[in-house]
Amino acid sequence: MDIKDISGTTTLRNGIAMPVLGLGVYKAKEGREVIESVQHALEAGYRHIDTASFYGNENGVGEAIRTSNIPREDVFVTTKVWNDDQGFEQTLSAFDSSLKELGMDYADLYLIHWPVPGKYLETWKALEKLYNEGRVKAIGVSNCLEHHLNEILENFEIVPMVLQNEFHPRLVQQPLLNFCKRNNIQYEAWSPLMRGEVFKLDILKELADNYNKTVAQLIIRWNLQKGVVTIPKSVHRDRIFENADVFDFVISGECVRRIDSLDRGERTGAHPNNFMDHFRDN
Ligand code: NAD
Repeated sequence: MDIKDISGTTTLRNGIAMPVLGLGVYKAKEGREVIESVQHALEAGYRHIDTASFYGNENGVGEAIRTSNIPREDVFVTTKVWNDDQGFEQTLSAFDSSLKELGMDYADLYLIHWPVPGKYLETWKALEKLYNEGRVKAIGVSNCLEHHLNEILENFEIVPMVLQNEFHPRLVQQPLLNFCKRNNIQYEAWSPLMRGEVFKLDILKELADNYNKTVAQLIIRWNLQKGVVTIPKSVHRDRIFENADVFDFVISGECVRRIDSLDRGERTGAHPNNFMDHFRDN
């Protein structure tokens, strides 16, 4: 993983280069808000945007990229198939809808958003088809544990290239990171800033001060030094720039270990083994 500057990438198991830092756009409103967020990010040098059909803002993401003067192939775009759209045929048509919303003729990474019981293996079959047809450059999964990955590894030819999971100082899941490393699956963090909760941990402020950096910068840097691709979200120009200013310092091994030690196995989101009720109730 190359983390020397914002153009740094990691090479996925199929040879595709994935930028190590991206912008997350969950809850960025469709239209002006998401368009401006992506514009700020592109100006700051980000070349990786993480959206999903569930976020309802693929259209704005596509528009911001299209009108940016940056060639399509220079921006890495991730989108995801939502729970209600899983199954073989449904996934194929959900992918068509996502591309239409994005106004693009391919996606860089297509992920299964959550491993819907009884369906995600069929969904993976559809992702393999889309990949084999060249409609997506890489495929992967989100919100999976080792047993979900093993099911895919045992039943299919294509190993997921990426696992996008909740990851922050309170939820490290080091054994799962190790499993992914062993299987050459790139780990990617969602909610790296714990949806703003990291700012309540005093120890992180202390550690960040040692480097004259903000807590957000310390945590993003910690993600990268652990080999984890990261997609912090903000719709504010100054924060989008701040979150990209993480390539001029290196945190010590001791500091990495201190952040690791804050792990409590705590989630801000649903558990991968029990999420259907969460989304039914929310
Ligand atoms: P996050 O951890 O990135 O936190 C975002 C919040 O942190 C923002 O709303 C903002 O309030 C704050 N923030 C950001 N930069 C800051 C800064 N420099 N200073 C102070 N506050 C700052 O949370 P997230 O949006 O949940 O996660 C990031 C991205 O991950 C999402 O936008 C989405 O793309 C992806 N995601 C994926 C899944 C999934 O199921 N695959 C789930 C959640 C999120």
